[in-house]
Amino acid sequence: MIKTEQKWDVIIIGGGIAGLTASIILAKANKKVLILDKGKHVGGRAITAEKAEGLLNLGPHAIYPNGPGVQILKQLNITLQGGSPAPKGTLVYQNKSYPLTLSPFALLTSKLLKWKDKREFIKLISGLSKIDTQTIQHTSLYNWVETHLKEEKVKELFYMLCRLSSYSNDPKRSSAGRIIEQVKLGLTGVTYLDGGWQTLVNQLKEQAITHGVFIQENKHIIEINGTHPNMTLIEQSGQTYTGSHVISTSTPANTLAMVKTKQPSSLKKWSEKCIPVKGAFWDIVLKKNSNLKVKFALGLDEPLYYSVHSAVANLTTKPDLHVIHLGKYLSIDDKIDPKKNQNQLERFLTSVEPNWEKELVFQRYFPSLTVYHALPTTDLPVITPEVPEISGLYVAGDWVTAKGLLADASITSAKTAANAVLTPKKELHHVI
Ligand SMILES: Cc1cc2nc3c(=O)[nH]c(=O)nc-3n(C[C@H](O)[C@H](O)[C@H](O)COP(=O)(O)OP(=O)(O)OC[C@H]3O[C@@H](n4cnc5c(N)ncnc54)[C@H](O)[C@@H]3O)c2cc1C
Repeated sequence: MIKTEQKWDVIIIGGGIAGLTASIILAKANKKVLILDKGKHVGGRAITAEKAEGLLNLGPHAIYPNGPGVQILKQLNITLQGGSPAPKGTLVYQNKSYPLTLSPFALLTSKLLKWKDKREFIKLISGLSKIDTQTIQHTSLYNWVETHLKEEKVKELFYMLCRLSSYSNDPKRSSAGRIIEQVKLGLTGVTYLDGGWQTLVNQLKEQAITHGVFIQENKHIIEINGTHPNMTLIEQSGQTYTGSHVISTSTPANTLAMVKTKQPSSLKKWSEKCIPVKGAFWDIVLKKNSNLKVKFALGLDEPLYYSVHSAVANLTTKPDLHVIHLGKYLSIDDKIDPKKNQNQLERFLTSVEPNWEKELVFQRYFPSLTVYHALPTTDLPVITPEVPEISGLYVAGDWVTAKGLLADASITSAKTAANAVLTPKKELHHVI
């Protein structure tokens, strides 16, 4: 039980991966930390649901073992177990299936590509590590591709790799530097976690509690008032919480709406500039009556994804089930048509696994989920964890500028926000 008049060193709005990570770092530094989450359970978008004895993440989730987030998780004694999908499968182009592989040798036998395509694609992949992504942060992916690639098929193949590793499907707006960095990371391999991402959430929660963090669920914060060291949060029911510092891991727009102290112009600018990256996702569980022919497939001329996550990770409580994630990478300009997108995903599944309907035991469809809150555009401003106008207010999440994209950004920004609380910037004094 917490006393309502208790004063916290840090109150964190949101107990997703960002909030939990920040809480552990702060609690280990002897801060009194409270997490308030509006959900029934902490975990945010990293939760896993058990459905028909299959463990389903919220859409396809893969961790980047060589990304900056995992390095921080390791420092927090989080262990991540799972399997890595092989970088091969099926490529669907104009409703026909072709072998998909990134191995240059196997590429040579591809019937989809002409010699000139193969030559250019091999040159592109083998030269990726040498690209200085810092110099092309403000160049659009589209402009980079048009300048560096000639063959149409190779352009499409590269866009497909960009979608796969970054989930984004907006080459004209996205930064070539940020997306290519993500492709390089993706090519070093990904891991599907045994038990789903819930195992990550559970370990973070356990660590947080062990280090003395208080967690309260079903607490929807609607107002952030005051400045350091007297900050007050108001919950929907009217209950108030007071603390010296507040870290918001909510969305940019919600964080802006909650702040009542004064209009923070930087938060307003960030919120206006953040373009969410969205997808339509279809999670399914199939009976394992027959072995699946295809474990992984991507659309070349359509932005579609299919992967049997249970083929490499332990995701079922029964051995005779397949857990499959499908998705369509949405572009900002797409008018969301849920039925049309679902039909397109069904057609895609039928083209790789024609008999799926007979084996279906569970399905759920999300017409539009936000994968992360800030597409790395060519003009996205640097979003610092400290909100400059309000001392004591910090932000963290996958829209805050840190290292990496997706959960990497959530984890690295959480660490940066926690460190900023622990070592606040000294006020600048002008020496005359
Ligand atoms: C379909 C899909 C696929 C993805 N695939 C990958 C992947 O393959 N690899 C990868 O690295 N990442 C992936 N991600 C992204 C990853 O899930 C997120 O980046 C990460 O989980 C975000 O964590 P977070 O803590 O920043 O935000 P969230 O998980 O959104 O957590 C924020 C929390 O704050 C709470 N909250 C918000 N507002 C309030 C309020 N006012 N009061 C109280 N509580 C509040 C919410 O309830 C929530 O629990 C994917 C996401 C989706 C949706």
